Amino acid sequence: QFITFEGIDGSGKTTQISHLADALRDAGHEVITTREPGGSPGAEEIRSLVLEGDPDRWSAETEILLFTAARRDHLERTILPALATGKIVLCDRFADSTRMYQGLSRGDLRAIVDQLHTIMIGREPDLTILIDMDPATGLARAKSRATSEERFEDFGQALQEQMRKGFLSLAQEFPDRFRKINGDQPIEDVSRDICETVLAHLA
Ligand code: C5P
Ligand code: MG
Repeated sequence: QFITFEGIDGSGKTTQISHLADALRDAGHEVITTREPGGSPGAEEIRSLVLEGDPDRWSAETEILLFTAARRDHLERTILPALATGKIVLCDRFADSTRMYQGLSRGDLRAIVDQLHTIMIGREPDLTILIDMDPATGLARAKSRATSEERFEDFGQALQEQMRKGFLSLAQEFPDRFRKINGDQPIEDVSRDICETVLAHLA
């Protein structure tokens, strides 16, 4: 089972993936956790190329190619081999993030994102957990932990709001695999809701 986590910066995806991985392992499942951009040695190198340094280094179109190249490597080397041996794969962001960030934030490039996805990736998650929350809360969290050299962390509230709406409309576009979780609750309640949703999906 291939399960992805989506949501705006600071929505708690990384934290929640680690809680869910513990819960699933306790229930006897074999689990790997991974992330995008990245998740394989080559894709982590591409992550640095895209997220560190001059934000204007790549055009929007080139950036889509780089994210897609990273995803292809991640899929070939990490995700598909784990799925083939029966593991549950929990992934922090996947193609839906590219549909949002590269597809929306620098003009309307969604059609390019989708065409490349069809040609080079062609795999959707079995289940996507969308942690939906107030952008102001997410932004405050993302800023408070902005430690690395990585860019994008300083998204303004307007863009966070646009991304939130974008993710909600993606959830409507793919209702079979998306499950929306209320991320404005206390962390333990978010964890409980995610755990119940995923266990129901696996049952
Ligand atoms: O998920 P994570 O916080 O590691 O993402 C790092 C940064 O990269 C985020 O600020 C996110 O907005 C950005 N990003 C992006 N396009 C993607 C995935 C992540 O701009 N497809
Ligand atoms: Mg994170």
